[in-house]
Amino acid sequence: MPTDTGSTLASDLTALLGRDRVSTLPEVLQTHSIDKWHASAPPDVVVLAKEREDVVKTLRYASAHGIPVTTRGAGVGYVGGCVPVRGGIVLSVRGMDRILEINPADGVAVVQPGVILGDLQAAVLKRGWYYPPDPASLKECSIGGNIATNAGGPRCLKYGVTRHYVLGLEVVLASGEVLRTGGRCHKNKTGFDLIGMFVGSEGLLGVVTEATLRLIPHPPARATFSASFATFAAAADAVQTILDAGYLPAALEIADAFTLEAARAYPGNTAAPKGEAHLLLDIDGQPDAVNADAASLMHLLGTLSPVSLTVAHDDATCDELWEIRRSFSYSLRATGLVKLNEDIVVPRGRLVDLAAFSKQLQEESGFAVASFGHAGDGNIHVNIMVDQAVIDGEPERVEAALDRLFRQVLDWGGAITGEHGIGLAKKRWYPDAVSPVAQDVHERLKRALDPLGILNPGKFVA
Ligand SMILES: Cc1cc2nc3c(=O)[nH]c(=O)nc-3n(C[C@H](O)[C@H](O)[C@H](O)COP(=O)(O)OP(=O)(O)OC[C@H]3O[C@@H](n4cnc5c(N)ncnc54)[C@H](O)[C@@H]3O)c2cc1C
Repeated sequence: MPTDTGSTLASDLTALLGRDRVSTLPEVLQTHSIDKWHASAPPDVVVLAKEREDVVKTLRYASAHGIPVTTRGAGVGYVGGCVPVRGGIVLSVRGMDRILEINPADGVAVVQPGVILGDLQAAVLKRGWYYPPDPASLKECSIGGNIATNAGGPRCLKYGVTRHYVLGLEVVLASGEVLRTGGRCHKNKTGFDLIGMFVGSEGLLGVVTEATLRLIPHPPARATFSASFATFAAAADAVQTILDAGYLPAALEIADAFTLEAARAYPGNTAAPKGEAHLLLDIDGQPDAVNADAASLMHLLGTLSPVSLTVAHDDATCDELWEIRRSFSYSLRATGLVKLNEDIVVPRGRLVDLAAFSKQLQEESGFAVASFGHAGDGNIHVNIMVDQAVIDGEPERVEAALDRLFRQVLDWGGAITGEHGIGLAKKRWYPDAVSPVAQDVHERLKRALDPLGILNPGKFVA
């Protein structure tokens, strides 16, 4: 049922935006109160924006009345970033889903924020071009959400994260003013890097309503290697050996024993390789170069005592080898345990230490720990696997295990999040991860752009 506040908001917003753009239906409030983390908080009203003017009018109204606004893309974030903890308005931009332009001559795509990443990649590929950022959620997540979280993925090792592909942004500020920054030039050093400020800002500084993205030529050939090893340490050593030998793979992914076991048990993944650790490795480029590198890499990997080793050259077989990696999140969830996915980053030289630490954490906490992720850049998803009953009944045990993990990661000079963001999930550890001066700079920026604090309140910057 809509609250009294919801009813007033709904009638005011309906008058401004039209009936089809505003909802207080219980099922709509429910679906807009969660993401893929476990927090939930209902909004009073949901605005279903279809165009920039809807966003402008909503923010003008919210500013005038001091109403919280939490922007939502596809709602498949992992940290509760789009959960409206202070109620008010959830501003969904998922319906702003048009690809406005794909222009190979300029090497750009212009898109609305609700475009699904996988749809953009497919449309760009049809023109022979490439948009590399590839979070595992690519079939579900939105470009606006990717920008707001600076999403990454396996290909970041060679190609970089979302930030490296944003050339221009249209952002509606808390006041309802429309800021356009950057454009379609691949280089632009005019003024401060405002794009860098908005990318990764988790909906706290403005609402992205349009993005101009950098496209690069699509490498015509690729090869995928699947190699499993008897121990995690052997796989981590292989990562360094590959890089030391002068290869910069497009992707270099690692998975541990628990993750592999869950994948083997997942329907359709019976082909998961034997061994206690797994590496997936992609190289790409022109066909002759890929063939030559594939042969020498096969030789190199063969010298590292793999338990299994396969290489694929055609897209379909490469994708088959990748299917297991893309399904890890789902297969771990299918264990019935809640997966607390901590996308920590360690300096790459700490991979083996991280594996040893995860084992120790598992023994001390009594929780299974599943680790997999982007070995090439040290961004490993450490998943603490917890029974829902423990989360509900003994939350302090869970917090203690997470405290231990983050303390260790920070002691090594690592980061508490590499790509998912802070959201609600990591808010508790934000003060440990960021110096007081840096926190103060964040707060001053927030006040400058959102003086009333209406945008996504209750998150890491109030
Ligand atoms: C199975 C699975 C695998 C995943 N794998 C990866 C991975 O490999 N790499 C990775 O980086 N992430 C991964 N994620 C996390 C998630 O997909 C990304 O964070 C994604 O970028 C979220 O996009 P979204 O559209 O769902 O954003 P939402 O969840 O809707 O929102 C996320 C944040 O962005 C803000 N926001 C959304 N749209 C806008 C906008 N237009 N303007 C301003 N702020 C906005 C929201 O307020 C919120 O703070 C995974 C998630 C799942 C479920």
